Amino acid sequence: MEGGQPVFRGVVAVDGPSGSGKSTVSRRLAERLSARYLDTGAMYRALTWAVLRAGVDPHDADAVLKVLADTRLDVTTEPHAPAIAVNGVPADGPIRGPEVTGAVSAVAAVPGVRAALVAQQQRVIGGRDRERGIVVEGRDIGAVVTPDAEVKVYLTASGEERARRRSAESAADLTHTAADLARRDRLDSTRAASPLQQAPGAVVLDTTALGIDQVVDRLHELLAESSR
Ligand code: C5P
Repeated sequence: MEGGQPVFRGVVAVDGPSGSGKSTVSRRLAERLSARYLDTGAMYRALTWAVLRAGVDPHDADAVLKVLADTRLDVTTEPHAPAIAVNGVPADGPIRGPEVTGAVSAVAAVPGVRAALVAQQQRVIGGRDRERGIVVEGRDIGAVVTPDAEVKVYLTASGEERARRRSAESAADLTHTAADLARRDRLDSTRAASPLQQAPGAVVLDTTALGIDQVVDRLHELLAESSR
């Protein structure tokens, strides 16, 4: 027990498409649980940044794998200050830019990339600091990365609402954001290697009409229910 709250030691897997609220909700939940937080999308984005910096075509799988072999990703899992570095260089800013966003789905579709990043994610989840639980967000967490997670959630929201949220975040034009989101959804859901999917046993939560705190409260309840 810590401050009267039971300490959470398990894994919460949060999957869903872009703009479903995954990142904000997962971070808040991790803070509330005094748990760690892993943003797996940031890892695919960081590798994509390395691919673009190397001047490599993101659709050239062999060349992407060569970049992967020369790339070390360091992730920190503090929900107050999640960070990622590529070969020691902080990459938190550039990985959110439009070039990386436009190229990441191609890089994430390469099976060898997925195998390497999933293995690293599993080491982070099961490695150091096991005494603290972890909230992990992505596209294949409940199905592939941690199929034995204590709680699996699939967050979703209407296409309009997801585009509205993303465009508010990036101050980008709504029509352009909606088109980009639809393209990424299509690529992420139709790729051969572990596409975006609802994991077996995942609780589906439509966040279209919900505020962040309401979603975090609901996840907290699910966790309490799962430990009864
Ligand atoms: O969550 P975020 O939008 O940052 O993810 C960026 C991209 O990384 C996704 O569009 C998807 O192509 C890829 N991704 C993935 N598997 C994950 C997390 C992200 O394929 N677990």
